Amino acid sequence: MTSAFVAPSMKVPFFNYPRLYDEHRQEFRTALDESMSRGAFIMQRDLVEFETELAHYLGIKHAIGVADGTVAITMGLLLAGVGPGDEVILPSHTFIATAAAVHHIGATPVLCDCGPDHLIDVESARPLVTDRTKAIIPVQLNGRVADMDRILAFAREFGLKVVEDSCQAVGAKFKGRVAGSFGVAGTCSFYPAKTLGAFGDGGALLINDDSLAELARELRDHGRASTGKVVRFGFNGRLDNIQAVILRIKLRHYAGAIARRRAIAEQYTAGLDGLPGLVLPSAPNSDPRHYDIFQNYEIESDRRDELRAFLTARGVGTLLQWGGRMIHQFDALDLRANAPFAEALSHRYLMLPMYHLLDDRDVTHVVESVRAFHGA
Ligand SMILES: *Cc1c(COP(=O)(O)O)cnc(C)c1O
Repeated sequence: MTSAFVAPSMKVPFFNYPRLYDEHRQEFRTALDESMSRGAFIMQRDLVEFETELAHYLGIKHAIGVADGTVAITMGLLLAGVGPGDEVILPSHTFIATAAAVHHIGATPVLCDCGPDHLIDVESARPLVTDRTKAIIPVQLNGRVADMDRILAFAREFGLKVVEDSCQAVGAKFKGRVAGSFGVAGTCSFYPAKTLGAFGDGGALLINDDSLAELARELRDHGRASTGKVVRFGFNGRLDNIQAVILRIKLRHYAGAIARRRAIAEQYTAGLDGLPGLVLPSAPNSDPRHYDIFQNYEIESDRRDELRAFLTARGVGTLLQWGGRMIHQFDALDLRANAPFAEALSHRYLMLPMYHLLDDRDVTHVVESVRAFHGA
């Protein structure tokens, strides 16, 4: 096995923040210099252009830049008419922000399970529906869209609004339809480690309905209409123009970055498929209904902690999503869930390095390290 001869200095960090700037340094510097020299800081043309380009790329009528993904979810819920006293169903395998958005508008997050694809298990949501249930939030985790046929049928059956947490799935598709296009609103996060990462916080709402889009534009800007007149209570929830400058450049390179992520996922499948006690995400092209963008590469292992320690010793960075806890496992929040799959998953899941800047040597080192752990 060649793995024994890998240079001890070989390191594959879980993520590499400095290289994000390095990659397109000259483009960033030129564009930032130009916009900042114009004094263009808040709600300027770079933001409008980014919104237009993002909407066009995704095939959605309106993309509305907001401060971050969390505020996008909060506003999406308001657009769906969720308010105090309502209940909102969401999976326990998600970022705490999904539940916090529900909480901060006075509604109650109700947690269901996820399934073997790590995405919301809509059957586990069935017994949770009450006459106060107003909406359901499918979380399009790890860059994959849930089976939206089943979720939309479930929502229709109980008269629920759908707000997508598509923060991890910008450009992912189910049956040719893009994440964020299925319900009242979709949401993007441009947190730096996200597939479309800014150099700070950022987010967007994805909306197909014109009047809801107008409402969203008011909500993100202190409730001001395009006339400047305040017509409702809103938020200071705008996407900074300087982040829009960065994001316009990142969007131009985005299709290539996603293609690279999918190629890495292919390499992981080719190298790791069939190892005992290891479960891999679906390979790209293995199911024609899904077009996954691989925000994360989240595996399962029967010997997760041992595997993780072994990889660390070989310079391979890994991460447990949400710090290793599903949201009902944060004791301070006192959230309950009947989520046996998610509960078991919290002891099994592990993310391998997955970003477009990994080169073939990096990927080979990860593959050989996981294989070496299995004595393969
Ligand atoms: C990143 C993320 C969010 C939003 O995060 P922000 O940091 O507010 O942009 C929401 N939900 C999920 C599942 C996420 O991964």
